[in-house]
Amino acid sequence: MNYRIGHGFDRHRLEDGNGVVLGGVSIACEKQTIAHSDGDVLLHAVTDAIYSAIGDGDIGVHFPNTDEENKDADSTAFLAHALERSKTLGFSIVNVSATIICDAPRIAGVRNEINASVSTMLGAPVHVQGKTTEGCQTIDAIDVHAVALLSQGTCS
Ligand SMILES: [Zn+2]
Repeated sequence: MNYRIGHGFDRHRLEDGNGVVLGGVSIACEKQTIAHSDGDVLLHAVTDAIYSAIGDGDIGVHFPNTDEENKDADSTAFLAHALERSKTLGFSIVNVSATIICDAPRIAGVRNEINASVSTMLGAPVHVQGKTTEGCQTIDAIDVHAVALLSQGTCS
């Protein structure tokens, strides 16, 4: 069995709006992400973690934000692409861990829903943690760090 770990990071600024999408879950709040795509910052970080684990570029290489085709794109398509590339190489996802850092929205109340949503997309356990910036944030944004563990081959 061959294991690979990958890390992904993403940040999107926030503006006044009517909700954010994290891991495919719509969260009602008075903010929205500023993004070329649908701005699902969690899926972007997880997607990059998978690309990183298999050594296959990153989300900006595969889906340039200069490409009009990617405008308002559904981030689940980015994740599906990374999963397809890893599957082609014989990898499957073991688990994913992510930390979402923002002062709003609060993650605690939607954590289980986010875990279930992303877990269904990946077919693997997912655990997200929410952190605030303890008032240190000078620019309104959501940061996400994600780690993905992938395995290749089978136990013998
Ligand atoms: Zn992004």
